[in-house]
Amino acid sequence: MFDQSLGGVSVAVAGAGLAGLAAAHDLYRRGAEVTVFEARDRIGGRVWTVGDGFEQGQHGEAGADLVNEDQATIRRLATSELQLSLVPILEGGFDFVRRHAGQIAIDRSLWQRLIDALQPLMHTYRLTEGRWDSPIAASIGRHSVAEWLNAIHAGEELRAVARGMRGLFLADPDALSLLPVLEEFADAGAPGIDRMYRVQGGNLRIAERLAAPLGDRVHLQSPVVAVSQDAHQVRVKVHATRGSLGEVIADFAVVAVPAPLASAIEWTPRLPDGQHEAIRSLKYGFATKTLLQFDRRFWQVPGRARAYGTDLAIGAVWDGNEEQPGDAGILALLAGGSTSNATEALVARGGPEALVADLGWLGASEARVLAVKRVRWEDDPWARGGYAYFDPAYPPEARQWLAKPCGRVLFAGEHTSMRWQGYMNGAIESGLRAAAEVAALGGSR
Ligand SMILES: Cc1cc2nc3c(=O)[nH]c(=O)nc-3n(C[C@H](O)[C@H](O)[C@H](O)COP(=O)(O)OP(=O)(O)OC[C@H]3O[C@@H](n4cnc5c(N)ncnc54)[C@H](O)[C@@H]3O)c2cc1C
Repeated sequence: MFDQSLGGVSVAVAGAGLAGLAAAHDLYRRGAEVTVFEARDRIGGRVWTVGDGFEQGQHGEAGADLVNEDQATIRRLATSELQLSLVPILEGGFDFVRRHAGQIAIDRSLWQRLIDALQPLMHTYRLTEGRWDSPIAASIGRHSVAEWLNAIHAGEELRAVARGMRGLFLADPDALSLLPVLEEFADAGAPGIDRMYRVQGGNLRIAERLAAPLGDRVHLQSPVVAVSQDAHQVRVKVHATRGSLGEVIADFAVVAVPAPLASAIEWTPRLPDGQHEAIRSLKYGFATKTLLQFDRRFWQVPGRARAYGTDLAIGAVWDGNEEQPGDAGILALLAGGSTSNATEALVARGGPEALVADLGWLGASEARVLAVKRVRWEDDPWARGGYAYFDPAYPPEARQWLAKPCGRVLFAGEHTSMRWQGYMNGAIESGLRAAAEVAALGGSR
């Protein structure tokens, strides 16, 4: 128990996103023999820093961008362990923009109005101490945000800000359970009210530095297709591609792939019914991230916010690279839930200029677009969505299955995190948890 060394223990890891890499890095540090299988031709998964195509040597985040002040694990890993710099960004947090009577209305206080309206339920939710196997959680969780809005006779402003949460939960009010909303706001204030950071040079650096000591133990273009286990070992089968290992036998496996991909793996023996169903039925939000590079940073006006939640088709909008030098600048747009399709439709009709037209209220019409990068994560075969969300049909008590070990297989990934689901911090913590689970089990081999 107290000797955490894993010399002589072999572990196969599926997925080289932050969860898989955090697990592999930690296992390797403890002396385990590690083999990582990654389906894509790159590491990082939903962390994807993109520089290609942008002028003035700038880059943007096509996936995860923001690190919050209270996300201690990623902050410590990035700075103390991986020697990276975190730069404070978006001072003052997110303002809120909505369309009202054909005009644009900007009102930061709407976030707080939403949180205030949640308070009566929040008191009850807090009694669960975060336990989703409580009947309280079950009774709240089966209601959508839209149902709650109807029940409290919410006015148009509250409904607008609830729609604006698509940029956070990647789901519309009628598709999103009320439970994760209470969970999110039980511990946090309005979005981005705390300090936010991003990694100097790009968030992908975290993945790169985690992977560096692993060297050729990370195998790209190697999707795991089958996992079988008995009391003594695990067999991990990889789809045969050029240079693929075919199959490895290990003492343990860490499966750190998004739930829809974990569900597509052939499991022998089958996962327990409850676990199979919990993984299979977990929904992933639609998310289109657009990075628009302009010739100048027209949105940087003294006294004005640099980040906005909106109920517009373009989704949430923020300064995507204020820490980088150059006259040019990148605006990041995150269109979650139905706005992902709305963004797609806008671009199909009018090209990226249609997105710029929707940014007129920020002053975009006076600037020239230099480059555009757009990623629709629901079309990505190795992600199948932006990140997990809980819909009213998902039984809250099923959530505990997502992180539950099954024999010699441990599960990691953003979706398995209790406190930080949907965040890089959750992915990293889940990977470290899976590594510690291997150590706990490995010590009693
Ligand atoms: C548009 C967008 C914006 C976001 N914004 C933020 C943000 O601002 N802040 C924040 O903290 N988080 C944000 N996130 C969430 C964050 O990106 C994720 O929580 C985190 O990166 C997930 O890491 P992971 O390791 O769990 O999964 P992934 O990064 O998805 O890694 C899983 C890996 O497994 C691979 N894989 C899949 N199937 C197989 C298989 N069968 N065999 C082998 N490999 C496989 C995938 O290719 C992938 O590389 C955002 C996500 C998106 C999409």
